[in-house]
Formats: sequence, structure tokens, C-alpha cells
Amino acid sequence: MAKIIWTRTDEAPLLATYSLKPIVEAFASNAGVEVETRDISVAGRILSLFPERVKDAAYAHDALAELGELTESPEANIIKLPNISASLVQLKKAIAELQSKGFDIPDYPDNPATDEERDILERYKTVTGSAVNPVLRQGNSDRRAPEAVKNFTRNHPHTMGEWSADSKTNVATMDADDFRHNEKSVIMDSDDTLSIKLVKADGSEDVLKPELKVLAGEVIDGTFMSAKALDAFLLDAVKRAKDEGVLFSAHLKATMMKVSDPIMFGHVVRAYFKDVYDKYGDQLLAAGLDGENGLGAILDSLSALDNGEEIRAAFEQGLIDGPDLAMVNSTRGITNLHVPSDVIVDASMPAMIRTSGHMWNADDQEQDTLAVLPDSSYAGIYQVVIDDCRANGAYDPTTMGTVPNVGLMAQKAEEYGSHDKTFKIPADGTVQVVNAAGDVLISHEVEAGDIWRACQTKDAPIQDWVKLAVDRARKSGMKTIFWLDETRAHDRNLISLVNKYLADLDTEGLDISIASPVEATRTTVQRMRAGEDTITVTGNVLRDYNTDLFPILELGTSAKMLSIVPLMAGGGLFETGAGGSAPKHVQQLQEENHLRWDSLGEFLALAESLRMEADHGNATAGVLADALDKATETVLEEGKSPSRKVGEIDNRGSHFYLALNWAEELAKQTDDASVAATFAPVAEALRANEETIAAELLDVQGSPADLGGYYLPDDAKTSAVMRPSATFNKIIDELAAK
Ligand code: NAP
Repeated sequence: MAKIIWTRTDEAPLLATYSLKPIVEAFASNAGVEVETRDISVAGRILSLFPERVKDAAYAHDALAELGELTESPEANIIKLPNISASLVQLKKAIAELQSKGFDIPDYPDNPATDEERDILERYKTVTGSAVNPVLRQGNSDRRAPEAVKNFTRNHPHTMGEWSADSKTNVATMDADDFRHNEKSVIMDSDDTLSIKLVKADGSEDVLKPELKVLAGEVIDGTFMSAKALDAFLLDAVKRAKDEGVLFSAHLKATMMKVSDPIMFGHVVRAYFKDVYDKYGDQLLAAGLDGENGLGAILDSLSALDNGEEIRAAFEQGLIDGPDLAMVNSTRGITNLHVPSDVIVDASMPAMIRTSGHMWNADDQEQDTLAVLPDSSYAGIYQVVIDDCRANGAYDPTTMGTVPNVGLMAQKAEEYGSHDKTFKIPADGTVQVVNAAGDVLISHEVEAGDIWRACQTKDAPIQDWVKLAVDRARKSGMKTIFWLDETRAHDRNLISLVNKYLADLDTEGLDISIASPVEATRTTVQRMRAGEDTITVTGNVLRDYNTDLFPILELGTSAKMLSIVPLMAGGGLFETGAGGSAPKHVQQLQEENHLRWDSLGEFLALAESLRMEADHGNATAGVLADALDKATETVLEEGKSPSRKVGEIDNRGSHFYLALNWAEELAKQTDDASVAATFAPVAEALRANEETIAAELLDVQGSPADLGGYYLPDDAKTSAVMRPSATFNKIIDELAAK
């Protein structure tokens, strides 16, 4: 029997799974499709680290590794729900909870002293951070707004702030000596092992990376951000914001670009508070207060300095003298410079554009903004959208076209962040990328403080990406643009490869072109305004940016996108939603037994996953998929999505209505008489008991719910909380037993 893997993850999506999965299993089993769980939660991954201690085979099993292998098989059909990217704090809490439940796992060794402790630390480290997606994403990315969601938005548009022709909002970005302008790129002739070193002015060498294995055809880039040029640019941007009377706002990605962007954030803080650093810089830097952890961390640490209060007053004066700062939370006095990870460029820029080009000032009022994006690689796309809104007004969600994305991502292509190959340069000299034969492939003259980084993109993912773009162009009939800039070294190489691989494919009758990101944005927004659809085919970073930018404008949120990873080996990975695991939602459920998590992403992903089974020959799965899409549209249209408020429909209620609509669609479809006959009585029973079930689901709300755990909730308790309607459960369980 065909098999869909439903991942068990964490927090809100895990709780929703306790309610939704029994429904999915019951429906799918009647289409010859089994739904199996694989545990890739933080708790599951921790327990799998210690098979010598965790005796229960179910817990000791390394499901993530198994799924990683499965992605190499054409049979892979995986529904991937959002999971926690665990911080150290979360990891330690999870360890403590598992220990309290009797699992014999070791403490986290903060300061490992023995080989055994070092081994434990190494194992635990594999669980923190972004540990799951890189294993499973063995394919490129296909993200689009499903028809049902687009239709719903056209009928029920989200709010869009008006744009004024006088808006003073703009983007400031560098015009030289940044990552974009310093980029060099080579395509490898053969497999090789490279090294990266810094040859210092005195002739001595620092090896930055001793061994970097590369494959023939792989694109290797090196580039750097000049610290001096960055400082000069930032001082100018601070002055410009002040002169123009707009908010100063920095937009970086300190989470993903976890080496380069915190360093750049430090430069922003020091530029904004130039007078303070001119006077107290030596002392602040000696105390480690360089701004890389944000203004908040500096202010928290000042009391430890002898003249801390004097410096605090200087920072306060800096805020008065400088341009107004965009606020993250004006009530609590949290500025854009307080925490490096508070403002994340891919989400913050579209949010600003949706809000009339405004951000919030210290008085909690909206104000025009100078958005500072130091590196110019992609900053220009936002200026184009801003100029378009200034000239033509806000976009209209009821008429605007849709902008799907095909993104290069497989095998860590264009390695977002490339942490292990990003370096803060310790001394003036030359950075060299050298091959095994000793030839220098890339070289840059650098100065102390510059940020240098390399990046890899393998050939097979590029070929697959071009194929995927042509496939989407063919299936959708949409105009398709590769966003590549011939004035950039990496993009020039990609353009040569795209042209080469396009020539091997059948593109007859398709409208496929290549344009720089700025030109492509211009064309895309013009078409979007006219109600025309355009596929953007982009590299990894723009994949991330565009799949927030356009969905936020079109749908109000990127969480409503369909996110498919067609695996290079032929299978499918169906990611649900674009949001995370919503910890606040768990808290609300625990306090008042209301789960506001919207499983829309799961509904959409499941339909695509069933459709893949249909493509593999199971026609009934296709019938289920089409009926599910219609049911999802009805849930949206009839307002049966979860409300945020206790006492109103929540996640569980929306699952009930999905089941009801799905069964009704199946009962009335004409493609498969046996399916119609199976689901007709189910539809009748659900409709006849609608009031009872809705009441049973609402009655439990309002008082605390006990899940018996956070990272590893108790199965029986959580199931009881998430399936509180005996009437509904009986109908679903009977269907499952058919
Ligand atoms: P988050 O979980 O992304 O949620 C932020 C807010 O977005 C939620 O509080 C909620 O708003 C809204 N939201 C997101 N998905 C929703 C849904 N399906 N239904 C209703 N509302 C939804 O917040 P975060 O703190 O950035 O991330 C939490 C964890 O998720 C982190 O560990 C992060 O690494 C992980 N993450 C995983 C993935 C993934 O696995 N693909 C993606 C992103 C983040 P309201 O509270 O206003 O309702």
C-alpha cells in the first residue's frame, strides 16, 4: 500500500496533529493510502542520540536519518510540519523534561572535561539550530498560492495601507565594496579539495578553512564586505534619515546569516551612536559591548562599568541627537537596534510596504522610513516596489496577479549563511581560495575587520532547478523570469549554466526570460498590478525574500502558501505553512483549552501529497485530493478557520468542518462510485450531528488543559484534549475501521 509519512514535530503543529491525523488516516485508508508517523521532534531527536541508554526501540530510532535516506527514493512522500529549531535553552529544558519522565539521558555538559562528556556534547549539538530542513530538503523549492486561497483572498481581501505620492520612504544600500560588488566566482573543472587562507601583510599565513571538498561543475564564490566602506555608508545613512526627517531602520537577517549579519549589526549600532563610541569606544569594546548583540545587551551591561551611568546618559543623548529610530515595541521602548534578530529583512520589508511604507516611531505613530540594507545584492528589489507604490498606490488584493517562486535550494545550494566559510578578517592581507594543485582560484585584498565569505552551489541542483522552472512554466502557462544579474560574478556563471540547460529542454511556446532582480521586479509588479501572473525563478536568498514579499502583499501572510520540495530522486517533500511552531499557541491551549493554530498549511500539503500518489497510479488518491481542495475552500469561505478567541471555533472545530466538507465532496463526486458510497453515510452522519459535535468541541474550552508534558506530551492526555467530541470520534473511528 502507498505510504505517506506524516512528521511528528513540536508545539502547536504537534497538538494539531493529535486531532487531524486520525481524520486523515481514516479518509486515506479508504483510498489505499497508509499514513505513518515519523518522530522528528526535538524530544524524539534527543532520545535517538543515546540508543545505548534508551532501551525502547521506538524512541531510540533515528527517524530523521531514516527520512534523510528516504528522500533518496522515488517513493518518498513526506509531509513535513514545522519543527522547533532548538536554542540551547530549549534543548536543556527538553533534556530535563525527558529525564523527569524516566529516560536515562545525560545532562548537557556545559564544560566537558572527559572524552565521554565531549562525545555527549557533540551528540547534543546535532539537535540545536536548523537541524531538520537541511537533511530533508534534497530538492529545490516550488512555492505558490493555491487557487483556493487566492480565490478566498479575492473575495475577502486583507487590509492594505494607502500609499501617498509624497511618501519619503526609501531604501539605502551600498554602491561599492560590499558583498555584491566584491564577488568573484569560478566553475570547477573537476572534483577538487580547496583551502581558504589569509596571507598577511608580513607574509605569514592563517588557514581559515583547511579543506573544502568540491565537485566538478560546482560554482564557488568568494566575496567580502569592507568594514571601512560599511562604516562610511552607515554614517551617511544616519545623516540622511535625520536630514529627511524619516525613521532610521536597519534590515538584516542575523538569524540565518548568523556569522556575517550580527557583525554588520554591530557596525550599525556603532554608526548610529558614533559620538558615544568616539568618546567611550575603547572602554565599551574592552567590555565586549560592540553592539553585535544589540543596544539592549549594551544597556543591560552598563551598570557593571565604573562610569556606566555616564555612558548610559550618552546613549540616551545619542537617541535624542540621532534620527528617530523605527520601533519594534514602542510601549516597551524597544528600538530597531535593541535585538539583532528582532527585525528580519524578508518579513520586515513586505510588512513595511503593506503598511504604507511606514514603520512605528517612539510615539507609536506610523512614519516614513529609511530602510537600511547595507549589502546591495538584493536591496534594489524593495526600492522598485516602493517606487511603484509611490507612483501607483497600494496593491489591490482583489485584482492583483499571483507571483509563485521556483527557488534554488537543493544540497544547500548557495548555502544561505555559509557559516563555516564566513570569517571576520583578523589582519590586513590577501584572502586566497586555493585548489589542491596550489593554484589560486579567487583572491581578495582585505583589511582587518572585513567580513569575507565563500559559498558553494553544486551542478546537479542547478540542472534540477532549471528543469523545475520549465515544468512549472509549462504546467501554469505563466510568464517565467530567472532573476539573475549579469553584472554579478556568481549570477554571470549561473546565466551561462541556465542557458546551457535550457537548451537541452523543450521550451517551445513558453515565455521564459532572464533579467536582473531589479528589472525582474519592475516587470513582475507591473504585471501583478494588471492582474497578470509571473513565476520568479531565483537563487536561495531571493527564494526566501520573494516567498515573503509577494505572499504578504497578495495573501496577507506567507503561511498560506503551498510549499513543495520535489525531491531530486523523484519523491516529494510537502512542507506545511511558512510559519513556525507557534509556542504562544501552546500556552493558550494550556491556559484556556483553545488552540488557535490554523492547519490550512497541512490541508494544502496533504492534497498535494495525495496528488503525488495519484501521479504514481492511485486514481482514488487523486479523487481524495481534489475533494480535499474543495473542502478547504469551503472551510475558508464559510469562516470555519480557527478564531483567536476562547469560546469560539478553534483548531479542532476547523478539523471537524474540514472532515464534514471533505466527506460531502467525496459523497457527491462521480469519478469513483465506491468512494462515493463509502463516504455518503459518513457525510450524512457528520451533517446530522453537526450541532452536537460543534457543542462538544466548544464546551471544553475556558479552563486549563493538561498535556502531561511540553516537549514530549503524554499521548493519552493530549489525545483526550485534542479529541474531545465523543460523537465525532465515533464516526471517524468507524470510518478508519472500514
Ligand atoms: P512562529 O512559530 O513562526 O509563529 C509566529 C506567529 O505566527 C504565531 O505566534 C502566530 O501568530 C502566527 N502563525 C504562524 N503559523 C501559524 C498557523 N499555522 N496558524 C496560526 N497562526 C500562525 O514563531 P517563531 O517564534 O518565529 O518560531 C517558533 C519556532 O518555530 C522556532 O523554533 C523556529 O525555529 C521554528 N520555525 C520552524 C519552521 C519550519 O520548521 N519550517 C519555520 C519557521 C520557524 P499569533 O500568535 O498572532 O496567532
